[in-house]
Amino acid sequence: DPFGISLSLQKIGIEAENLGSSTGLDWLDSGEKAIASFSPADGKSIAQVQSGNAETYEAIIAQAQIAFEKWRTVPAPQRGEIVREIGNALREVKADLGKLVSYEMGKSYQEGLGEVQEMIDICDFAVGLSRQLYGLTMHSERPGHRMYEQWHPLGIVGIISAFNFPVAVWSWNAALAWVCGDVCVWKPSEKAPLSALACQHIAGRIFAKHGMPEGICSVIVGDYQVGELLSQDPRVPLVSATGSTRMGKLVGKAVGERLGRSLLELGGNNAIIITENADLDIAIRGALFGAVGTAGQRCTTTRRLIVQENVYEEVKSRLASAYSKLVIGNPLDEKNHVGPLIDQDAVKGYLAAIEKVKAEGGKVVVDGGLLSGDGYESGCYVKPAIFEAENHFAIVQHETFAPILYLIKYKTLPEAIALQNGVPQGLSSAIMTTHMREAEAFLSAAGSDCGIANVNIGTSGAEIGGAFGGEKETGGGRESGSDAWKAYMRRQTNTINYSTSLPLAQGIKFDI
Ligand code: NAD
Repeated sequence: DPFGISLSLQKIGIEAENLGSSTGLDWLDSGEKAIASFSPADGKSIAQVQSGNAETYEAIIAQAQIAFEKWRTVPAPQRGEIVREIGNALREVKADLGKLVSYEMGKSYQEGLGEVQEMIDICDFAVGLSRQLYGLTMHSERPGHRMYEQWHPLGIVGIISAFNFPVAVWSWNAALAWVCGDVCVWKPSEKAPLSALACQHIAGRIFAKHGMPEGICSVIVGDYQVGELLSQDPRVPLVSATGSTRMGKLVGKAVGERLGRSLLELGGNNAIIITENADLDIAIRGALFGAVGTAGQRCTTTRRLIVQENVYEEVKSRLASAYSKLVIGNPLDEKNHVGPLIDQDAVKGYLAAIEKVKAEGGKVVVDGGLLSGDGYESGCYVKPAIFEAENHFAIVQHETFAPILYLIKYKTLPEAIALQNGVPQGLSSAIMTTHMREAEAFLSAAGSDCGIANVNIGTSGAEIGGAFGGEKETGGGRESGSDAWKAYMRRQTNTINYSTSLPLAQGIKFDI
């Protein structure tokens, strides 16, 4: 245990050997077999976490329903106070939880810390929001009438999350849902169950301290079948699901069939346009972090670089030289830039994508491959790769969740924007330019079709203050800042008659 993982777990309040149930609740035993949590950093098993099943799911939902009856009556600013304490508890365990995330998921320790910081930030945001759940007032067309709207909690919010942001995605949803008066049932990725249980312990303790019922904050570990229980359950009015487009289509369909609400945060195929007016120092740094950060396993990872022909050769050679300096290895060792992929299946997907781009006519700029030998025993470490490719290649149209970057050449900006938009996904996009006309054209109604469009920063690394999400096959959902909270509430329009008569709207007469 060279990085002190056991100690970190203890500080968070959990002991690996003693996790027991799938829910963080000692009394709830599903009797199911355990899911092993493996670290892609060294291939070792960290802990065994029991999987939930239909029975434990029922117990969790029953508990959440009871909790909602209480929680919805707690004034929103008081709910915010509890979320403030959860943020403070996260501040205390930032280093330890960041380390666990890094070890279990494989992102660098710095990015693990960043992920916990995002959780703290969204808690702060939610505290302020708890006093700002504003509705509008309207002028009634009828004399002696008043109209306004108010926002009420929805009920149980189901959260299905992906492996690559094993804790932050939950907090974006949960912190907002809680101040909105909802209760949360979280089905984390089966590839990172321990980080989820750690969060449950951290937040659960705060609710317990305030005498709040357990069901405000629940987790149920399991695979897609537990996710299906949530998406098919009419007692769950909102399912917020983060993951692949394949999963989103299934969840969207199941939730749609019962006319529930879904909030979908799915795959991206993000591009940076580098124009001939770009500051190339910034462009190269932005592209590098975007393409290889988190080993290419961010939904906002830069997958395509669309480069103007006059600067194309320079960008290509500077990037290749930057790639040659990347140090790949254990994510907890801060000298390394790139950690492992999540598991060996992901490695297979990466290797297959490299075969495909070559078969479709892509040219190698920096070749990829699986690393072996000292430090790479887990079999999950791969070399970040760059290929010259065409936007229409089937493999370029597809999101491969690994560090593979495609270089695409363009002549005119309209052509570059058409290439950037010419994929099924629509999450994040960026332009590197110092030219105001180019930047504004990219941001205009005829520009990027993505949910996120940046100028002179890369495609990844969003702040919590803005609404996060994307269009097309990315699913259309928005989470986190701005007015994303509205997805977690139901709007009620109220008309009050304080006059002595009963006029009908639109001047309709109905007298007997
Ligand atoms: P995944 O789709 O394999 O799994 C995501 C979650 O969905 C897991 O918890 C899984 O158990 C569950 N699931 C799978 N099938 C299901 C079903 N039929 N019904 C209910 N639940 C089901 O994704 P992953 O490999 O964990 O994550 C990588 C993907 O997530 C990438 O495509 C990435 O772009 C995307 N992602 C998107 C965002 C975003 O905000 N847009 C953020 C992070 C990750």
